[in-house]
Amino acid sequence: MSADTNVSKEQPNPKVDGKELIRFDKVVKRFGGNTVLDELDFSVASGKHVTLIGPSGSGKTTILRLLMTLIKPDEGTISVGGEYLTHEKKNGTLVPAGEKHVREVRKNIGMVFQQFNLFPNMKVLRNVMEAPVTVLGMPKDEAEQRARELLDMVGLGDRCDAYPTQLSGGQQQRVAIARALAMRPQVLLLDEVTSALDPELVAGVLDVLRDIAHTTDITMLCVTHEMNFARDISDQVLMFDAGRVIESGSPEKIFTEPEHDRTREFLSAVL
Ligand code: ADP
Repeated sequence: MSADTNVSKEQPNPKVDGKELIRFDKVVKRFGGNTVLDELDFSVASGKHVTLIGPSGSGKTTILRLLMTLIKPDEGTISVGGEYLTHEKKNGTLVPAGEKHVREVRKNIGMVFQQFNLFPNMKVLRNVMEAPVTVLGMPKDEAEQRARELLDMVGLGDRCDAYPTQLSGGQQQRVAIARALAMRPQVLLLDEVTSALDPELVAGVLDVLRDIAHTTDITMLCVTHEMNFARDISDQVLMFDAGRVIESGSPEKIFTEPEHDRTREFLSAVL
């Protein structure tokens, strides 16, 4: 079944209970003959911090890339804030989503990547201001004020006029976090945000994220190999293996009393 036909006209809009922000329903993603996600079901409640753990290649990053609409599911549906990512309602029926709909739903989602992906030709301040001005149409002075506040929050209020290459990797990643937050997303997706950093720069980035997790009501979906960080910030941990959630629960449960052999094996290899 293709992504364009996997919601029938009879199907109602995604279920919204007021708390559920992200929902994956029977999502299948294949690359060639390789089924990377296999009828994946999971949901994330608004304001919660959910961490995806599991062996390399188990499909964690694919989930974040689907949410960013960088790729499409082959089957199943994904919704954010009660709107399907791949479909929209027109004249009472669901049709494949147009670009405008996708852009609207995506405004609710911010992502920080392994490789910071800053605009190299723009100073730090402009990196953070750019999307609110061009995508949201925010007045420049308001965007600048917000960018300065966010840069202060990530400890870089004094580096507004630097270019990305003049900063350390850890500082660049903190700018990338400020840039994602500048769009006031409901969800922050974090994809292995410390794995490209020198070890001495990791703590500063994780401290900033801990602070955000503990002081804001943003929903976080996080892929990480930093198990102490996962334990600190998560409300829920999902253990993936071969494109399925094989176990989920509080960090206490997953890290101290895992039920599944694969979880125990994985944790003993990484802890
Ligand atoms: P994880 O984040 O758990 O390490 P990924 O989601 O990155 O896993 O990848 C899951 C599987 O999908 C891997 O086998 C990977 O090689 C494959 N994969 C991911 N993206 C692509 C792509 N664009 N083309 C082909 N295979 C891909």
